[in-house]
Amino acid sequence: MFELEQVSDNVWAHTKGETRCNVACIKLKNSGIMVDSGLDPISAKNARDAAEKVMGVPIKYLILTHYHHDHICGNQVFKDCEIIATLATQKMMEEDFSENWTEEKLAKFIAENPEFQEKWQDLELTLPSKIFASDYIIKENDEQVELIETHGHCKGSCYVYVPKDEVVIAGDLLFAEMFPYGGDPTVDPYLWIDAYTQMIYLTPKKVVPGHGPLTYKEEIEIQQKYLELLVKKIEDLVVDGTTKEELLERSDLPKFPYEVEQERMNLLLDKCYDAIKEAVNSF
Ligand SMILES: [Zn+2]
Repeated sequence: MFELEQVSDNVWAHTKGETRCNVACIKLKNSGIMVDSGLDPISAKNARDAAEKVMGVPIKYLILTHYHHDHICGNQVFKDCEIIATLATQKMMEEDFSENWTEEKLAKFIAENPEFQEKWQDLELTLPSKIFASDYIIKENDEQVELIETHGHCKGSCYVYVPKDEVVIAGDLLFAEMFPYGGDPTVDPYLWIDAYTQMIYLTPKKVVPGHGPLTYKEEIEIQQKYLELLVKKIEDLVVDGTTKEELLERSDLPKFPYEVEQERMNLLLDKCYDAIKEAVNSF
């Protein structure tokens, strides 16, 4: 039984990991919206069935918050829907599919990760069918749902705002109660901080993160504060001539309020160092 937790009157989310990333659904009067399709078509189908059942309306739209594979590998289940993403997300998906998802690479990955044998046996990589840049509003009758592109976690990242319920669906712009994944080569810590500011400004009553439990505005503030302190510290170190290797060895970096996965932290430091160095050099 696929579990959907009620977030607000018209929003539900799955945060238990069956789809790997969190997925959410939003009920409009006559149709439904799914946010992200998860890691594989099998769990995506379960998510869609559960969402349509709980909402009592058919899904008409699928929003992709960004291009990472754990958010888009169930897309084929929504081929009859409008699949909406930012232009940058579409480009990143096209690039990713042609570079990293060739038949050969996929076969090799499955051979090395047998748990994907069943999950991905019928995988059809599916691109968005509706593209926007900057922001977009899904409007039906007097109802609307807003999509706002911020970048940050990766190029093309967007979040979703449901005004009538005052709910933010953050995608991977928010990892609740865990260290954020910042290993994408297009990560931009400055834009990520700005994205947090925007989401906080909306004063949402509830927040659906890309990973981790349902949460609140305060969690965004916690994550933003950490990233701000980290960026400031790395800026200072870059100005002092600290190398990336030296940065990874530092023991005086700002303390993250939850358990730290060292590998994840190193990924974020590695990619943020590059972005911050570029910014510092351009001042
Ligand atoms: Zn992601």
